[in-house]
Amino acid sequence: MGASDQQTLAVWKFASCDGCQLSLLDCEDELLLLADRLRIAYFLEASSAVVEGPYDVSIVEGSITTAHDAERIQEVRRRSRTLITIGACATAGGIQALRNFADVQDFTAIVYASPDYISTLQTSTPISAHVPVDFELNGCPINKSQLLEVIAAHLAGRRPRVRAHSVCMECKRRGTVCVMVAHGTPCMGPVTHAGCGAICPAYDRGCYGCYGPMEAPNTAALGAQMTELGASEVDLVRMYRTFNADAEAFRRAGEAHERG
Ligand code: SF4
Ligand code: SF4
Repeated sequence: MGASDQQTLAVWKFASCDGCQLSLLDCEDELLLLADRLRIAYFLEASSAVVEGPYDVSIVEGSITTAHDAERIQEVRRRSRTLITIGACATAGGIQALRNFADVQDFTAIVYASPDYISTLQTSTPISAHVPVDFELNGCPINKSQLLEVIAAHLAGRRPRVRAHSVCMECKRRGTVCVMVAHGTPCMGPVTHAGCGAICPAYDRGCYGCYGPMEAPNTAALGAQMTELGASEVDLVRMYRTFNADAEAFRRAGEAHERG
């Protein structure tokens, strides 16, 4: 297979911690196996060598928090045939979307010695709020195997096999005893998107929802169960206000508990 059969891959960073890009770097052995099909053309975290676009597929990490980035993502979309977003920041606004529930000036005044130098938007928003997105991969950070599946599916021209069921299903599959049922440990697994392999319950911890909402989560039922375990409305608001606070289902659940 010649170079002309290769697809070009670009990786872009917006407001984020780089953890999802590190998951991609962690795939280097597997990506080498795909070298005849995929050419990494733009990935500044891995190499300063840049091939000019347009690109067959772009992977985007991070949320939009500045006016400059709101313009930059339009340019990225124009130069990308397929655009895939990865991680809680790119798919839901990330932990930095906590500003969406407050006044960002209150945060900059506390964090920076000279907040006047900070130029930022009032909100942190996912990439899909700005441009059409072809596929969103949840996680904080994303799961390496799921990322490889998304890339392989793209190369094969099919839908990625990434299930949108809950973390509870993953507990059942690996035979983990439910921490909520057996020990009364609060767990967001019933409303959280699968993908991590239910790693926290496997270590006797409750899930704290880092993969964001599953498809059609029953947050009311989980709220009732958490209340039975002793959680207050404030606890429940805090439970939803983390990495995926502004993902629609978690935002609505948080607001419902805020109203009490
Ligand atoms: S431990 Fe959590 S994720 Fe696992 S089955 Fe129980 S509620 Fe679901
Ligand atoms: S917090 Fe939940 S979704 Fe995140 S790694 Fe732990 S079990 Fe998985």
